[in-house]
Amino acid sequence: VDLYGAARRNSHGLNLADESVVVGLQAALGAARPPQRATSLLACGEGPGGEVTPVLDPADHRRRLGEWVALPVERVPEVVAAALGAQARWNALAVDQRAAMLERAADRLEERHAEFMRLLIREAGKTVTDAVSEVREAVDFLRYYAASARRLMAHPEVLPGPTGEHNELQLHGKGVFVCISPWNFPLAIFTGQIAAALVTGNTVIAKPAEQTNLVAFEMVRLLHACGVPRDVLQLVLGAGALGATLVADPRIAGVAFTGSVEVAQAIHRTLAARPGPIATLIAETGGQNAMIVDSSALPEQVVKDVIHSAFLSAGQRCSALRVLYLQHEIADKTLAMLRGAMRELVIGDPGLLATDIGPVIDADARTRLEAHASAIKRVGRPIEHLAVPPSCLHGTYFPPCAVEIDGIEQLRGEHFGPILHVVRYAAADVEAVVDAINATGYGLTLGVHSRIESTWRRIQARARVGNCYVNRGMTGAVVGVQPFGGEGLSGTGPKAGGPHYLLRFVTERTLTVNT
Ligand code: GLU
Repeated sequence: VDLYGAARRNSHGLNLADESVVVGLQAALGAARPPQRATSLLACGEGPGGEVTPVLDPADHRRRLGEWVALPVERVPEVVAAALGAQARWNALAVDQRAAMLERAADRLEERHAEFMRLLIREAGKTVTDAVSEVREAVDFLRYYAASARRLMAHPEVLPGPTGEHNELQLHGKGVFVCISPWNFPLAIFTGQIAAALVTGNTVIAKPAEQTNLVAFEMVRLLHACGVPRDVLQLVLGAGALGATLVADPRIAGVAFTGSVEVAQAIHRTLAARPGPIATLIAETGGQNAMIVDSSALPEQVVKDVIHSAFLSAGQRCSALRVLYLQHEIADKTLAMLRGAMRELVIGDPGLLATDIGPVIDADARTRLEAHASAIKRVGRPIEHLAVPPSCLHGTYFPPCAVEIDGIEQLRGEHFGPILHVVRYAAADVEAVVDAINATGYGLTLGVHSRIESTWRRIQARARVGNCYVNRGMTGAVVGVQPFGGEGLSGTGPKAGGPHYLLRFVTERTLTVNT
């Protein structure tokens, strides 16, 4: 299988410029659905009864989408035992068989795109275009990791040795993986983690973010229907305490986690403190992502990319732009254009095609953003803060906000939403700007707008970031094209959707035979 050439294609997604596609999609999205119910999916069947939580639409809390049932934490030992019991059999299966299940799941997901998009829009508040991209990304992860596993694991690598000796290097699953995924990519990241762990021969216990259990439940059912056995992939629903209990179990071989740096550090401590084997932690956390714009940049392109990177997806991407550095000479003009472009943004129901900005995920998120915005507006100089339209008052909306500050050092931690901080800099200080960005300790994405190649090369060489984007937006990494993930406080690597991702999910064994 050629991973990088013509044989591998990313999903096409939907062409929203085609009217017939849009009409069909709107009909599918608008169709009434009975309330859904998500439960844990264990080896023995559906999880037992537990606390029931309603699922409300973040765009309008009067709309009840369904409910989810929590798994009592006392059931964790039995869930881990089932996963452990299934692992040797699953690992012994030919990689082709495991990969084929993922590929079937990719095909089914493409067929059922409208159903999953509806869940992403209603449960996670994704806009229609974001929902299209997210289904595509999940499909891409399934196919990419299937192809990647075939390439790595189909045959052991034969190594040279003296005459009369055969040496080979084999890759095997490590054991039981716990996959803990975030609400901001409740289908793509959820599916990517699971696919990588499964295809390499691990059994999986998946614990999705509690805000997005309905979409996780449907995806696990789809994977089961495509042949993944129920003891090989179990879904457990609950709050953070459930994840913490799972991670503390000494029988867990690895954890794939995407979320906040604080939780990643807590998982790290738990894994280190428990008895038993040394576990693997793959963590993808946040960022304090900056974009540096010099006076040679094309202002129209800059404004378009800033709007896209800072405000779309309601700023709820870990790759999103948080701190925009503008060279003094172009700052006033760029800010005037930015203010104008912000005023054009449509805040509204995410199910409507015209909507640019949907809700933030929940009331807690909104409260945190409001607190930060009012604090930073007091110390900085407000540029623009849009208003929430009256049609949105029943949802958890936080409108795009831009504020000028003196430096990135004024920010403490990540503010996960559509708040853009702007800093002016002098051309002679560009290296000090990069050093200040590095000094935050985060290292996820960086944008540069400059038409001078030596400038962006110098910046990229000095910056400690995982993904650097020049003269374009800085979100929306594409599987197999821009492998995604950072360093420092932003995560452990390896990069998701990249050629080395699966290597962290396997253990290597050599076999030496005297022939
Ligand atoms: N991969 C996404 C992007 O490039 C971000 C993932 C995340 O927010 O966790 O925008």
